[in-house]
Amino acid sequence: MIKITTPVLGDDELKEVKKVLDSGYLVQNKYVKQIEDFISKYVGTKYAVAVSSGTAALHLSLLSLGIKEGDEIIVPDFTFPATVNVVEMVGAKPILVDIDLESFCINTEEIESKITNKTKAIIPVQEFGNSTNMDEIIRISKKYNLKIIEDAACALGTEYKNKKIGSLGDVGCFSFHPRKSVTTGEGGIITTNNHEIYEKLKILRNHGISKIDGKVDFVLPGYNYRLTDIQAALGVIQLKKLEKIIDKKIKLAEIYNRELKNIKKIKTPKCDKDVRHTYQTYHVILDESIERDEVIKELRNREIESNYGAYAIHTLKYYREKYKLEDSEFDNSTKAYNQGLAFPLSYEMNEKDVIFVVGKLKEIIE
Ligand SMILES: *Cc1c(COP(=O)(O)O)cnc(C)c1O
Repeated sequence: MIKITTPVLGDDELKEVKKVLDSGYLVQNKYVKQIEDFISKYVGTKYAVAVSSGTAALHLSLLSLGIKEGDEIIVPDFTFPATVNVVEMVGAKPILVDIDLESFCINTEEIESKITNKTKAIIPVQEFGNSTNMDEIIRISKKYNLKIIEDAACALGTEYKNKKIGSLGDVGCFSFHPRKSVTTGEGGIITTNNHEIYEKLKILRNHGISKIDGKVDFVLPGYNYRLTDIQAALGVIQLKKLEKIIDKKIKLAEIYNRELKNIKKIKTPKCDKDVRHTYQTYHVILDESIERDEVIKELRNREIESNYGAYAIHTLKYYREKYKLEDSEFDNSTKAYNQGLAFPLSYEMNEKDVIFVVGKLKEIIE
């Protein structure tokens, strides 16, 4: 079976994890510090705060920015539902915006019409390792005094105008889930340049604990969103491989583009010249004449794993029943959800595998 992705794990990871087990210090300790130092340097922010998942990163970001009940948050309709769930978790209202079908990121031209006097923030999702037009996001956020929370869960290493994603807003959120380029099993990290936000994040991830005059006190009702040192040790080794993994994925994506170019019924992903796309996922749109779910089944019969790329939030039970939004407001997101297909893409694949996948796909759709 050619899997949709496979984590790149070896003896190096095992050795480093064993060091943690031998030390007896299993929770947040020196490897968590190491992973934070690596990420803040790599992304180019002053601070990084490691947490237990990408979802925890998003949740704490909203809390640290003071987002609360009654606030409205701009979110793209096409994403992994965690992006929107966290908005509900803090009692705010997600204002869904359609995406652009070339980038699969939020359609920046539709944002301003959805802003009201309750709007407090925008969460641009850097979908599939691509980047949204961040100049536009920044311009809009300045004009309306909005916070920017980059959902960069699947975009570690992605660049916009030679700057790393995660350094362009108030906070950036990353995930280390095995479906992403590098993994800690479960895990996530938040990047920021703001010292006040940084301090708040550290308190919120650790039960609300802070030190007042050198004495431990509980200053907020916090969470336990800590990353363990076991996970961080895994991550420290994984991050050494990050650039190698990204380079390979970019190469494989280019081979997909080349092989799929002449198939009229398939729309391949586009990437702006300002963006370094890191292809966490290689995602295409199938023509409406093709039954996407049938293609997934037929690929599986041929030992190839494929899947949906992301979800149209307005169609999911909770959001559908609560907000009763129409498909017609989200043409592109609806199309990407119904006709989108994510192909296998991982470090361990080679040119031959990509050609095999595309060959089988042709067999199915022709
Ligand atoms: C993976 C992902 C998340 C959630 O990250 P977890 O670590 O699984 O909690 C959130 N948003 C996007 C866009 C993602 O791809």
